[in-house]
Amino acid sequence: MLNIVIFGAPGSGKGTQSAKIVEKYGLDHISTGDVLRAEIAKGTELGNTAKALIDHGQLIPDELMVEILASKLDALSGSKGVIFDGFPRTIAQAGALKSMLNERGEDVTAMIELDVPEEELMVRLLKRGEESGRADDNEETIKKRLVVYAEQTAPLKDWYKNDGKHCYIKGSGELDRIFADIVAAIESKI
Ligand code: ATP
Ligand code: MG
Repeated sequence: MLNIVIFGAPGSGKGTQSAKIVEKYGLDHISTGDVLRAEIAKGTELGNTAKALIDHGQLIPDELMVEILASKLDALSGSKGVIFDGFPRTIAQAGALKSMLNERGEDVTAMIELDVPEEELMVRLLKRGEESGRADDNEETIKKRLVVYAEQTAPLKDWYKNDGKHCYIKGSGELDRIFADIVAAIESKI
């Protein structure tokens, strides 16, 4: 199986590039942000818990996220591989993902880091907020999310370097050039 972690700050283009990777490699896409927003839309208990945290730019607790991820993985059958979008976001989640995959005789194939300067992230997210009305895409919440990213999520770069999976991609510029760089990085890890 081809298991790809797509990684980067909020607004770095994980969702956009995931769609292109899914199309090329026929992978299943697990976006934890999309899962949580669907729960919020349905008004479930999980959705209510998630909304309170997301609106403040905070992460959902690791135990809850790991449980969600495990149930998404269990629901797959005959998968050619998975693209993990928005997970892991903490060291604890990265360890849990590795264990879950190892239990299934699998591992992460490549971790793709999309690197985008902070000023550009802010511009992209404010624009997305205007167009899509996503409640967490406002200046105050974006600033908090960027701090959470720097403190809790960015350390995963070194974690995946130590695991031999990290691939650096310049995430600003032409969409197709970014995608071509991602494909080259994936091919180098297969
Ligand atoms: P991008 O724009 O690159 O897709 P994003 O940070 O804007 O990234 P999502 O990945 O959709 O957006 O996540 C939205 C919110 O959902 C996060 O700010 C966080 O509160 C919560 N969330 C999503 N995934 C996780 C996770 N793995 N652990 C904890 N919280 C999560
Ligand atoms: Mg997304």
